[in-house]
Amino acid sequence: MQKKTHAEYLQDVSYYDITILGKYEGALKPIKARCDKCGHIWHPIANNLVQGHGCKKCFAKTVKDRHSVGRANKGLTQKQESARVKS
Ligand SMILES: [Zn+2]
Repeated sequence: MQKKTHAEYLQDVSYYDITILGKYEGALKPIKARCDKCGHIWHPIANNLVQGHGCKKCFAKTVKDRHSVGRANKGLTQKQESARVKS
């Protein structure tokens, strides 16, 4: 496999809302990255970002309606809101 340069890698991920904070050291090495939407910082495998595996937090938001954990969180929020209205 041909190794990309850091600059080439930045071009590959420029389509996504991600800022690369670390240095590209190979497709299968973790790299420090920040999500521009929510500010989440994590260390994904470099190649996963190229393939569109973006921020897990933002991804979870988009699928929360199909996910049981997402439904539980939604119920909690509604409870908190009704409590706030009463007081
Ligand atoms: Zn995010």
